[in-house]
Amino acid sequence: MSVEGVVYSAESSQKETASLVVSSSGHFLLSTKHDVNEYSLKQVEISEQLGNLPMRIRFPDGRVFATEQKRDLQLLLQRNKPVSWIAKLEGNAIAILSCLFLTIVLLFSSYKYGVPLVSDLIVERIPNQAQVYFGEQVLDSLDSQFEPSQLSLEQQTAIRKRIEKTLGELPNLPFNIVIEFRSLDNYANAFAMPGGKVVLLDGLVKLAKTPAQLDSVIYHEIGHVYHQHVMHSIVESSLIAMGVAVLTGEATGALDSLVGGGVFLLNSSRSRDAEREADEFAVDAMKRIYGTSEPMVKMFTLLNQQGDDHLPEWLSTHPDMLERIKAMQ
Ligand SMILES: [Zn+2]
Repeated sequence: MSVEGVVYSAESSQKETASLVVSSSGHFLLSTKHDVNEYSLKQVEISEQLGNLPMRIRFPDGRVFATEQKRDLQLLLQRNKPVSWIAKLEGNAIAILSCLFLTIVLLFSSYKYGVPLVSDLIVERIPNQAQVYFGEQVLDSLDSQFEPSQLSLEQQTAIRKRIEKTLGELPNLPFNIVIEFRSLDNYANAFAMPGGKVVLLDGLVKLAKTPAQLDSVIYHEIGHVYHQHVMHSIVESSLIAMGVAVLTGEATGALDSLVGGGVFLLNSSRSRDAEREADEFAVDAMKRIYGTSEPMVKMFTLLNQQGDDHLPEWLSTHPDMLERIKAMQ
């Protein structure tokens, strides 16, 4: 089927009669008395059908074909529909970008809101005994890297007793606090395990100039126990790992590391939140027990000064220490 009409040249308003057919290979063939031109269907612009005006097709070389045989042209176009809507969508960069953006927003919000929500539900349902047991297992596995504490038994007992006496001043804790002493070269640090164990390294006890300074770090760790941060982060990482596995289908490939990288960035922002919450808990405890957060400011300044470039990653404190110290004052 051919459609008859006129073609206007690109440079002038000269027109000549022309006919339009669609070739078997799906191209427009525009024939005039002088020549035949071939155009891909994707390259042409087809005007809206407006009232009695002729329908127009603009070709990439600037020529315009106009016809009164609107029905015929529509039939021709319909029969040779260049692309289905899905192919059109595929060819449409804006649509692709919007879909990608929506997917990212969806993934991000399920990460930001969904994961913590589900993790809350799961952590609430983990029996306390299981968390205590889990904490023991974690400490057991870390013990291959730790050495026994060099502190005297009296020193250890004094610290335990001092903290024990103040526990009544703190909000109700989900677990009994058990302070454990270990050593690792001269590293000054402390860790909260799931289930209420708090591990103090000898280096930290030595770094503290006063009992109050040491206690501020212990209260910070008790803050992690209070909020059950460790258990939350374990459950959240497992949920995310499962999500990544579902999304990527396998544990390898570029997408995996891409997603992994994003998760790492988001995770570190969440662990910053956990540090802030533990700091707030400790500031509160220090004010209630010692009447001031000053020793905490001193202690965290000391910790910051020793720097942690040389520390193994799992031991390092967080980079935004100065900001945290400011917030403690
Ligand atoms: Zn912390």
